[in-house]
Amino acid sequence: MPELPEVETIVADLRPHLVGRTIVRCELSFPTIVRHPEPEEFIDAVAGMQIESVGRRGKYILIRLSSDVALVVHLGMTGQLRLLDEVAPLEKHTHAVFFLDDGRQLRYRDPRRFGRLLVGSEEALLIAKKMPRLGPEPIDASWEAEQLYRELRRRRAPLKAVLLDQRAIAGVGNIYADESLHRAGLRPTRVASTVSRKSARRLHESLRESLQVAIANRGSSVDTYRDAWGEVGAQQEKLLVYGRAGEPCFTCGRPLTSVRIAGRTTVYCRRCQH
Ligand SMILES: [Zn+2]
Repeated sequence: MPELPEVETIVADLRPHLVGRTIVRCELSFPTIVRHPEPEEFIDAVAGMQIESVGRRGKYILIRLSSDVALVVHLGMTGQLRLLDEVAPLEKHTHAVFFLDDGRQLRYRDPRRFGRLLVGSEEALLIAKKMPRLGPEPIDASWEAEQLYRELRRRRAPLKAVLLDQRAIAGVGNIYADESLHRAGLRPTRVASTVSRKSARRLHESLRESLQVAIANRGSSVDTYRDAWGEVGAQQEKLLVYGRAGEPCFTCGRPLTSVRIAGRTTVYCRRCQH
């Protein structure tokens, strides 16, 4: 599933190509991919609108339109948002096509259809419960270690579960939760409230590091993730623990352990993480 670094890569790539363009019209071949408002209203809301900015909040892509609403894209498990020439053959599982005034097309493709498209003001989407109230952005300079420590202090859940909670920290998913806990030397099963201020500081630093290194490497293509040009990222070859259960830890050589936390496969080292 695309997480913060993958979504950030797509957003940074699309931004210079989309800002200032006008969406001439939109065609939906699988209308239920639109979750808000009704598909017909969605089509009307984007048609003729100029794109003012392209941003990201957590794992959400926010394309702000001249009408003061945002076209919001959540990639779910297998969603891909690509910018293509109009003559490019339409790939299977393409559910929405946005025709741009420069002849190019922004296409949403999603084989497993867990993704969603929304249109509205961020506040309206929050109220309609189409978007969750997201926690702080972990790569923002304004997010401090003390904030993370306070969040962990009040939680009885395992550390891994807190990192996955989008209301606690926005944008972290299974890959970067495991990677940052390994970097920080913290066990994912550990009850969050038992973490010391010093350990929270280490986790804060590890989270930022894991995410920033992954952004520099254009994300992890561990499954179907592709960037806006259909290319794979490079971070999957550099992951320390994710997807490596049973393989040797790069630090101590012991086989990595796998457990399930919050319904997600979690990989860690029993010797290096406490
Ligand atoms: Zn180890």
